Amino acid sequence: MSNVFLVTGCCGFLGSNMCEFLLKKKYEVIGIDNLLTGSVNNIKYFKRYKTFSFIKHDVIYPIKIDKKIDFILHFASTASPVDYIKYPIKTLRIGSIGTENILKLGLLNNAKVLVASTSEVYGDPLEHPQKETYYGNVNSVGPRGVYDEAKRYLEAITTAYHNKKELDTKIARIFNSYGPKMRKKDGRAIPNFINQMINNENITIYGDGTQTRSFCYVDDTIEGLYKFVKSDYNYPINIGNPKEYTILELVEFIKNLISSNSKIKFSILPENDPKVRKPDITLARKILKWEPKVELNEGLKNTIDYFYNNK
Ligand code: UDP
Repeated sequence: MSNVFLVTGCCGFLGSNMCEFLLKKKYEVIGIDNLLTGSVNNIKYFKRYKTFSFIKHDVIYPIKIDKKIDFILHFASTASPVDYIKYPIKTLRIGSIGTENILKLGLLNNAKVLVASTSEVYGDPLEHPQKETYYGNVNSVGPRGVYDEAKRYLEAITTAYHNKKELDTKIARIFNSYGPKMRKKDGRAIPNFINQMINNENITIYGDGTQTRSFCYVDDTIEGLYKFVKSDYNYPINIGNPKEYTILELVEFIKNLISSNSKIKFSILPENDPKVRKPDITLARKILKWEPKVELNEGLKNTIDYFYNNK
């Protein structure tokens, strides 16, 4: 098979899981990462694959690759609220300048380009569940604005490259993916709660825990993204699991899987933290013939094992 994939953000959670998936399918994979929030630990055992190569590079600078690339998966971004609040300007640059550099590379290669967007483009949604046609409710000057607007710009420029330059683009709106290779100190709910319970520390619930999220196990997310990049569809598709849980319910699920003395500690809900989130995946089912298969309990077990084995 001569298909060459380029994966940006290859040392991050989704990027490294995607590389592994592609390498197992025997594709040639070139990974790019600037190691701002990603870790080389996530790719170190790819050395066994002769078909993997790594380039340390920041996508906000133009990049030349000597090889013909057939598919690009653009994940590079700070993705956790703790990171984008710490690196606000960088986050905007990666989403804007970085994305345009990758789209230009796509044009040069006549490649299919999938860009990772996010359920955050819907902000604190007033439509529930969220369909791709919903425009969102985002506060551009709030703490999450840097990420939300970077990703909204990513969608806009990607669409412009498709409409104006006929680039074969795909926009994946990814909803709360989780699983092995997340960082312990990622700051997000699932790694936080698991590691707090493993270490018998307080379980930090922000707000009263009645806010909801819909968590998608990484293997499902990756399969959906792979089907999408191989498709001929050029507009946004939600990639997520439509099963919705409150944060209190999530804590209960994890508590039932880990024996721990941890106690819940409530603190204030961060500004603009969405109160609900749940994807409508009618489009993904229809266009990609895809839907998630892994139940929350099963996905959490695998994630807990990962954190136990990587203490
Ligand atoms: N959250 C929480 N405690 C934590 C981390 C997150 O209560 O230690 C809450 C957070 O306020 C949000 C939900 O869990 O309402 C999901 O947060 P996460 O950062 O995982 O993802 P996002 O907000 O980007 O969906």
